[in-house]
Amino acid sequence: MPRTPPAPASASALPSLDRLLRSPTLSALIQGHGRIRITRLLRSHLQVLRERTSAGQLSAADLQHAIEGPALLAAIDAALAADARQDLQPMFNLTGTVLHTNLGRALLPEAAVHAVSRAMTAPVDLEFDITRGRRGDRDARVQALVCELTGAEAATVVNNNAAAVLLLLNSLANRREVVVSRGELVEIGGAFRIPDVMRSAGARLLEVGTTNRTHPADFAHAIGTRTALLMEVHASNYAITGFTAKVDTAAMAAIAHQHGLPLAVDLGSGSLCDLAAYGLPHEPTVQDTLAAGADLVSFSGDKLLGGPQAGILAGRADLIARINRNPLKRALRMDKMGLVALEAVLALYREPELLAQRLPTLRLLSRTRQDIEAQARRLLPPMRSAMAADYSIELAPMHSQIGSGAQPQAQLASAGLRITCTRRGGLDRFARRLRQLPQPVLGRIGDDALWLDLRCLEPDDEARFLAQWSALQA
Ligand SMILES: *Cc1c(COP(=O)(O)O)cnc(C)c1O
Repeated sequence: MPRTPPAPASASALPSLDRLLRSPTLSALIQGHGRIRITRLLRSHLQVLRERTSAGQLSAADLQHAIEGPALLAAIDAALAADARQDLQPMFNLTGTVLHTNLGRALLPEAAVHAVSRAMTAPVDLEFDITRGRRGDRDARVQALVCELTGAEAATVVNNNAAAVLLLLNSLANRREVVVSRGELVEIGGAFRIPDVMRSAGARLLEVGTTNRTHPADFAHAIGTRTALLMEVHASNYAITGFTAKVDTAAMAAIAHQHGLPLAVDLGSGSLCDLAAYGLPHEPTVQDTLAAGADLVSFSGDKLLGGPQAGILAGRADLIARINRNPLKRALRMDKMGLVALEAVLALYREPELLAQRLPTLRLLSRTRQDIEAQARRLLPPMRSAMAADYSIELAPMHSQIGSGAQPQAQLASAGLRITCTRRGGLDRFARRLRQLPQPVLGRIGDDALWLDLRCLEPDDEARFLAQWSALQA
């Protein structure tokens, strides 16, 4: 017997927005989120139902069901959850890159998080001198810390290191020339390119030497009446190897000083401690660079320093004073949250023996391969048991990277899990599943495998990681 098709819904059966808003079903949601937001979500829900009704896609029974209590609640809950997914989401960084620019670079230490939260919820002496009872200097505390830690005469801070370089060039070399080695005209992440920054700052770039070799005489010959300063730029994200020659900081400083000019060094990452002491590749520190004769050094807050986004300028007091007088300084200044976090991070450097425990960046960078391998061994069995038969997962040695352009060639011995799949497209599908987890997991795909480097999985987060992994059932 042919079944009669269900009766189509009629638009007149759609309840009014007002009626739904008055229904007891929604009162708890209105209490929790306010009438304005629930009205907005309800209105778009009704609009969808109206469109599906006019398209004849809903039976009268479907529509009736959709506007009844539980289904309506579920729909609004889903809309709230969809909004929440647009917020920044915590992730598991198993890429092996510790300072991952796309994932927000350095993680802040507890001390900084507390300091920020305190400063956010109470008035603070940000620009107030409590002793004298009058206006104070916003940068004074950070300046004192930077000077104490680096031996600099003076210091100032701005929003990021790109801003620091722009400000330094605009303050000291507007409409004048800056001499830079051709091998150091770096581009960092697309938008920051030394020649472009020079132009924006109003400075004229004078490139000297060749891509692979630059000699002291190249600098000496380039200096003229319009020269404002000599500049050295840390190559950061690339390396020139083979038949190369570079004028070191001390030699550049000597040339600059012979001509009465300052030497500025953009260190990029800028470390305040000797990384070699932690088994990491050597990186020139800010204090070494100043001691070698640099008059100004600029560096990032959220790279090797392990702090918030910031750009720090340290060096000669007269140059810092000129920089602070530039109106651009005010435009590029750091916000309160960043400033407070930076102070807290710098303060940790006063107790260097404890730094590798307290500062997440250094803690992660200095983890040994043995430690990471033991963790991988621990995690392997429960991870394996949640995976389908056509996937295989095994322990594998890996190489982590510092990231953010610091020491691009340095390979930190690490370990993790290597996942392969016999099905075509299986790996990409699996990687997508991992990104869809409540706390998305990001690995690295290469050589027909998905590599999960465990360097950045802190032991405290293991249980949470495993709990959501077990729910995978790939
Ligand atoms: C990273 C870097 C910058 C930019 O620093 P941000 O803090 O990211 O703005 C500038 N110069 C060099 C050499 C760098 O490595």
